[in-house]
Amino acid sequence: MNSSHPTVIVGAGFTGLFTALHLRHQHDLRSIILIDPQERFVFKPMLYELLTGELPEDTVCPTYKELLKGSNISFVQDKVVTIDLQEKRLMLASDADYTYAHLVLAVGSVQGYLGTEGAQENAFAFRSRENAIALEHQLRDCLQRASQMANEAERRSLLAFAVVGAGPTGVEMAATLADLLPYWYAQLGGDMREIRIILINHGKTILAGDVNAGLQEDALHAFRTRTVPVELILGAGVKSVSANYLEYQPVDSTETQKLLTQTTIWTAGTALNPLIQSLKSQILADHLDKHGLPLVTPTLQLLDFPEVFAAGDCAGMQAQPLPALAQVAYQQGATIAHNLIALAKGATPNPAHVNLRGTLMKLGLNNGVANLFDKVQVTGKPGDLIRNATYLEMLPTPIHDFKATTEWLKEETFHHYHRPKLEPETPAK
Ligand SMILES: Cc1cc2nc3c(=O)[nH]c(=O)nc-3n(C[C@H](O)[C@H](O)[C@H](O)COP(=O)(O)OP(=O)(O)OC[C@H]3O[C@@H](n4cnc5c(N)ncnc54)[C@H](O)[C@@H]3O)c2cc1C
Repeated sequence: MNSSHPTVIVGAGFTGLFTALHLRHQHDLRSIILIDPQERFVFKPMLYELLTGELPEDTVCPTYKELLKGSNISFVQDKVVTIDLQEKRLMLASDADYTYAHLVLAVGSVQGYLGTEGAQENAFAFRSRENAIALEHQLRDCLQRASQMANEAERRSLLAFAVVGAGPTGVEMAATLADLLPYWYAQLGGDMREIRIILINHGKTILAGDVNAGLQEDALHAFRTRTVPVELILGAGVKSVSANYLEYQPVDSTETQKLLTQTTIWTAGTALNPLIQSLKSQILADHLDKHGLPLVTPTLQLLDFPEVFAAGDCAGMQAQPLPALAQVAYQQGATIAHNLIALAKGATPNPAHVNLRGTLMKLGLNNGVANLFDKVQVTGKPGDLIRNATYLEMLPTPIHDFKATTEWLKEETFHHYHRPKLEPETPAK
């Protein structure tokens, strides 16, 4: 292996960024190239706060330029389009190419649509900064048009917001919108009681099979007690999504039903990153997991290419599968850095030990639940505070952490949001 070649990290999300930062924090002096097509890191667990305006953009999505200042890590804003694992070479969309000594694959996953007709074209995804901005624009536009709309049927379809998928993202999204949209609509002079938030899920229970499954009751309670209640359609598969409605079919029926809505938010399912998909021809079929993810050893190396590390949402653990979580990716990034240093010293790499530190969910504005080490549950405002404090502590650099905490405390102090109360129904005259 030519050690004059750099360590190349593909993807600067939780795994990739934290691998690079850990290498530098441990004074590893090798040449590091970090490649990502985006200009900004996305702190996905707090993407809701970008949508709601609870935290500023620079806190949730700081630029790599700011994060990597003074680190001597070369950041290349570009997309990797092919990798030749035998030749240890990769090509970028710009036609540039790199030969690496070590490679870290950290490209995450992409939104999946389960083959649902019209979903990719018409539904709103929620995984990136651009997604959050597009969704905010759509929500505000619907509320604005509804506030001016005399035609009741049209107004109702503008004010019906569908969220597909009751995994953690769908649940957090539905609960957050059920506080946020009435607040925004009231500011426009609209009647918040006309707003509907409808969560549709194929399974009959929410959060099924997820690490947050134990928080089901807390989520259901939150749905009942938001500014407007979240409506649930469970045991129903969405068949198609168009710009003005979606169609769904209850699992125990042959009839399709129509829900008139101009906003469908899609959170159901993930798919392989196309770059990982393109590696399939270079990896033995039995070295892929059942989802097609490349399997890695406990030390996070590809089975046939020990100079390549892979982790986070784009790798499968050979020993025991791990949930697709930021807290997993973040800890794996630290192990990869440690193992890259071990290899450079001729030492043996160590297995990754990931500790799941409980789970945290946003269940509305100023409302959350923290499940700490599966032993203690803290709900409501204190749960929300723990969630904020935990995530802000994880933010990438000490400087950024300090800035984010300051911003957040400011929001807290000035109570940016007061959840509006629903007025009792005025009797018809
Ligand atoms: C809305 C939302 C809320 C979430 N909430 C939580 C939570 O509360 N707690 C939790 O633990 N987890 C949460 N997650 C999951 C968590 O964000 C992911 O598990 C985590 O981001 C995975 O890290 P990663 O490094 O594998 O991928 P990512 O963080 O997704 O990073 C992948 C990076 O690779 C880049 N990339 C992609 N393709 C290429 C390419 N071809 N070339 C170069 N770069 C590329 C992308 O631009 C991206 O920056 C949430 C996810 C979402 C979407």
